[in-house]
Amino acid sequence: MFTYDTLLAAVAVKSGRTVESRNPATDQLIGLAPENTIDELDPVIAAASAAQPGWAALSDEDRRSYLHRAADAIEESAEALAQLLSREQGKPLNGLGARWEVGGAVAWLRSTADIQLPGEVLVDDGSTQTTMHYRPIGVVGAITPWNYPMNIAMWQIAPSLRMGNTVVSKPSETTTLSGLALIEVMNQVLPAGVLNAITGPGATIGDALVKDARIGKIMFTGSTATGKRIIEASAGNVTRLTLELGGNDAAIVLSDVDPEEIVEDLFWGAFINTGQTCCAAKRLYVHDSVYDEVVTALASFAEKVPVGEGLDEEVLLGPLHNQRQFEIVSDLVEKARASGARVVLGGNPDPEAEGFFYPVTLVADIDNDNDLVLNEQFGPALPIMRYTDLDEAIRLANSLEVGLGASVWSSNADRAREVAMQLEAGTVWINSHGILAPHIPFGGIKQSGYGLEFGVEGLKSVSVPFVISG
Ligand code: NAP
Repeated sequence: MFTYDTLLAAVAVKSGRTVESRNPATDQLIGLAPENTIDELDPVIAAASAAQPGWAALSDEDRRSYLHRAADAIEESAEALAQLLSREQGKPLNGLGARWEVGGAVAWLRSTADIQLPGEVLVDDGSTQTTMHYRPIGVVGAITPWNYPMNIAMWQIAPSLRMGNTVVSKPSETTTLSGLALIEVMNQVLPAGVLNAITGPGATIGDALVKDARIGKIMFTGSTATGKRIIEASAGNVTRLTLELGGNDAAIVLSDVDPEEIVEDLFWGAFINTGQTCCAAKRLYVHDSVYDEVVTALASFAEKVPVGEGLDEEVLLGPLHNQRQFEIVSDLVEKARASGARVVLGGNPDPEAEGFFYPVTLVADIDNDNDLVLNEQFGPALPIMRYTDLDEAIRLANSLEVGLGASVWSSNADRAREVAMQLEAGTVWINSHGILAPHIPFGGIKQSGYGLEFGVEGLKSVSVPFVISG
């Protein structure tokens, strides 16, 4: 079991090539994260390659047992992991924050360990039997973003290990300590070489990982722009890819909602993790008949949500993770304001404040073609559009090049389902947004990526199918 101090000591380094890890709320130095060189990638992939046949040769029962024991280890060190995650990423310990994320990593690992992917009988007609089977790919390269450094890493690691692959994980350079800490804790239990890490900038180390011929599959979660680079970089080896990319999820609120009833779920569907969530609601289309009430309800709810440094037990929303994200959000809100949109709440970050705090911001009466609507803000600024014609709202919701999630809000389940069927997204939620579960497949369409994670489909995506017929 680790404490915060022993965990930090295990993953931070004192010298060599390092990058500073700083708390986004206070700018305080947390520790120095190691930054690997390209030369250091080779032995890591070699170790993963060497360990893979032995790991794959274990019985299904033995591999599952290892994964459950790794989940026990995470539970034992959960508080230390959450403390580090909160400091490095900026998210609060409580609410939908660091403790919740660590709990999610455990839940994903246990659930994935228990999902079965048996061979399938395709033909059995008395004379011929044809069956389909799944074997491991080999070594999986897992590249994660900084918004959920432990959960997203686990979404990649758990199914890969479950199917008999070994893993080389690359955390984002700004959440390296969190990524390394999760792996350190799991490696108290796992055999050497099964779960490995490599650190450093995406453009160099990440790129080299993608291009290495020993990597059979890349699981990537991050921006669409990086996803496109990875498609190109992986072409040389025809490396398999799962790409979970950016989104700009639309939420359509129908005329029959009770604003007070939906406001809490609607708020958290948009502002979870300070809006830095791939499948958060990022564009809100509200019917004219309930528009003013929904905006007022959201503003009153938002005013009561405590914002501050993540380690404060009362806080439910933290700062943005980095300067760049702060600038993107500020710029989009300023452009929206200049266009004549109404900033109902927020939009006024304190210039004296330490850290990257941007207030919860609601922007009403904004044009459908405003940049804040068309671009992924990845922060706490929600554009709220008024509509009268539902078909037009559906058309606008579908009009972008991305399609990760979407949601419909209505008191009439049949009506909501009818609208949901017309929305172009990998998942359409009804009366919620962004709720994920380890047994329900998740993935984007259009430029939000391809390939599914979670559940049986997630296991298939880290396996090679093969057929025996005769
Ligand atoms: P990003 O810049 O694409 O980075 C994601 C990861 O890729 C990081 O580990 C990064 O390393 C690495 N990377 C960067 N360039 C690379 C390259 N050329 N080759 C290989 N790896 C490379 O994304 P981000 O800014 O961290 O995350 C925000 C984006 O992720 C948003 O668009 C969000 O919607 C999306 N996202 C999607 C999902 C989903 O499930 N669909 C979930 C979460 C986030 P460094 O950071 O060290 O440079």
